[in-house]
Amino acid sequence: RNQSLKEIIILPAITRDGKRVEVAANIGTPEEADLALNQGAESIGLYRTEFLFMSKKEMPSEEEQFKAYRQVAEVMGDKPVIIRTLDIGGDKDLPYLNLPQERNPFLGYRAIRIGLEQKELLKIQLRAILRASAYGNLKVMLPMISSLEEFRKVKMIFEEIKDELKALNISFNHKIELGIMIEVPSAALLAPAFAQEVDFFSIGTNDLVQYCLAVDRMNEKVAFLYDHFHPAVLRLIKMVADAAKAAEKWVGMCGGMAGDPLATPLLVGLGLKELSMEAGKIGKIKQIIRKLDARDCQKLAEEVLKLPTTQEVREKLLEYSKANI
Ligand code: PEP
Ligand code: MG
Repeated sequence: RNQSLKEIIILPAITRDGKRVEVAANIGTPEEADLALNQGAESIGLYRTEFLFMSKKEMPSEEEQFKAYRQVAEVMGDKPVIIRTLDIGGDKDLPYLNLPQERNPFLGYRAIRIGLEQKELLKIQLRAILRASAYGNLKVMLPMISSLEEFRKVKMIFEEIKDELKALNISFNHKIELGIMIEVPSAALLAPAFAQEVDFFSIGTNDLVQYCLAVDRMNEKVAFLYDHFHPAVLRLIKMVADAAKAAEKWVGMCGGMAGDPLATPLLVGLGLKELSMEAGKIGKIKQIIRKLDARDCQKLAEEVLKLPTTQEVREKLLEYSKANI
């Protein structure tokens, strides 16, 4: 029987052969967490905190941040919420930070690079997240990580803040996970090394595609070259999925590819544990997953990874969707 999307959003996404995939929502404000739940989100795979910063005339205080993060934690209850630290720069400006004008903002002073130079900013945010972690199931995720050194520097700061909170008897989740976005090709290529040190990965295809293919994600003129089905992008994703599996680490995806129905069988076949997307897409993606056979998707992924062009990948996936969904 073909179930309606309304019926499906409340069901878990389990393949016909019993493999469960977490279907999650990307949010930008605490208010969106309620909407995400109503649309069937099983977790928040990406909370983009930059909107909290962009909606103010000055830096939000630790207290303001704490309130926002606690609100999301409480709305979601036991369900995981991945909070991403500030990802500003690139296309997103923050007037009060006085960021420099750059020739190549996407290759410049952005995201964790800002956090590691303006450490107080990062520390305040991490402290706010840690304090909020006492009220739900929060995880921390770092954007634009491109080397192990960057991760280790943040990890050290994170541990220092935890020690401070312990000393002050302020409660937080002592087991809170610290993971990274995989959105720079260097991080994907080093995934086996990262997998030894991070708690989880989430693949950010919006930037990964841009950096892998050297195609500005905001530039209309080259938009036709921007495609998450490019075979080179697929190879990077596979490396990350395989590295996570080998190290028994959790791997999800929070870029636009996660909400693309044509990609779902391939992503299930590659072994991603979670797909996080705009809440409005959740029902459709759950519906697709419930029609799939995970073992068959694995075979599909093997075949797709052998194809040398984007067009052949798209044709193969279209053919598979027509036959199976
Ligand atoms: C991504 O790069 O895929 C991502 C999810 O982050 P953002 O779109 O916020 O850069
Ligand atoms: Mg990104």
